Amino acid sequence: MLERASIVVLDVATILKIDVKALQLPELEDKVQKFAEPAYRARQIIDWLYKKRVGSFDEMTDLPREFRNRLGQEFAFSSIDIARVLGSRDTTRKFLFRLADGNLIESVLIPASPALYGSRSDRRTICISTQVGCAYGCKFCASGLEGFCRNLQPNEIVDQIIAVERESGEKIDNIVFMGMGEPLANFDNLMRAIRIINAPWGLGIGARHITLSTSGLAPQIRQLADEPLQIRLAISLHGATDEVRNQMMPINRRYNLEKLLAACDYYIRRKKQRLTFEYILIANVNDSPDQARRLGRIARRLGAKVNLIPYNTVHGLPWSRPSTEQQDQFLSILRRSDVPATLRREKGHDIEAACGQLRLQTKREVETATS
Ligand code: SF4
Repeated sequence: MLERASIVVLDVATILKIDVKALQLPELEDKVQKFAEPAYRARQIIDWLYKKRVGSFDEMTDLPREFRNRLGQEFAFSSIDIARVLGSRDTTRKFLFRLADGNLIESVLIPASPALYGSRSDRRTICISTQVGCAYGCKFCASGLEGFCRNLQPNEIVDQIIAVERESGEKIDNIVFMGMGEPLANFDNLMRAIRIINAPWGLGIGARHITLSTSGLAPQIRQLADEPLQIRLAISLHGATDEVRNQMMPINRRYNLEKLLAACDYYIRRKKQRLTFEYILIANVNDSPDQARRLGRIARRLGAKVNLIPYNTVHGLPWSRPSTEQQDQFLSILRRSDVPATLRREKGHDIEAACGQLRLQTKREVETATS
C-alpha cells in the first residue's frame, strides 16, 4: 500500500542552512577554525560522514557535546529515505527515494555489465539522478513528462550512493549520471558532488569510474572540458541528423548537431579522451540503415564509441523498440564503419528501469489513491 504523497513543510531556518554533506574538506576546515576548534575536527566530521556514515551530529561521539550542538545550529544534516525498492529477475534494483521536502527521485543499481564506458568491467554500477524532473522534454523519456521541479543539492546526489550501498550491502564502484534530470543543467552542484564522490576523504571512487551523460548542452560540455577532473562523458545522441534529432530532443533546436559536435571536438582535444555516444533505438524513428551510416561517419570522425540501447517502453508514450533483426542490422552497419559499438540489451526492462519511469508510476498511483 502506498503512503500518501507528502509535501513536507520545512522551516525557513532549515532551508537556509547549508547541508554539512555539501561541503568539501577544506571548506569544513575553514568553518571549524571559525568556531575556534582545531582543524583536525574537520577530518573527524568527514570520517563520521563518509567512513562511519552516521545520520546525525549526535552520533559523532568523539566530538565535544557543545561543538556537536554548534554544528547542529550551523548546518543542516539531511538524509534521503527509501520509499520503494524494486528488484528484477536479473537483479537490477531500482530505488525510489523521498527527499526531505517530499519530492521523489530514482536511482538504479546494475550489478554487472560488460564494459560500457571503457573500464574493464562495469561492476556494481549505480545510475543516479541530478534533478527532480527535467526541463528538457526528450520525447521518449518519462522524466521529462511532468516537467522540471528543482535541482538536487550536492548532498542529495551523494546520498543516493550512500543509501544504496547501505540498503544493498554492496560497495559501488561505478557511477553514471543518467538518471532523472540533465546533469549539466545543474553544473555547480554536480561538480561539488563529484568532488566528494571522487575525493579520498569522500567516497573515493576514481574519476574514470564516473560517467556523465548529457542530452547535448554544448556550452556546458566546453565548461566541463575546462575542469581538471578526468571523468568520462557520454552524449545522448539518438539521431544522426538534425531532422531526426529534432523530432525527439527539443534541445537540438537550441544546440543543433553542428554546435554539439563542435563542443564534442573541443572536449576531446582538451581531455584526450574517447567519448561515448548513447543511441536509443526507436522503431521507425531513428533505426534506419541511413541513420546507422551517418552515425558511423560521425563516430569515426570523432573516434567515439557507440552504445546502442533498444528503447524501453514508457507507459503513455507512443514509441516502441525495433525488432531484434533491425537492432542487429544497425549494429553491424556501425561495425562495418569501424566504430566500436555495443548493443545493450537493457537490464531491468521488467522493473520500469528507464529514466523517470518508477517515479512517474508512483506519483500517478499516489494521485489515484488520494483523489
Ligand atoms: S533524457 Fe535526460 S535530458 Fe532528456 S528529458 Fe529525460 S532526463 Fe531530461
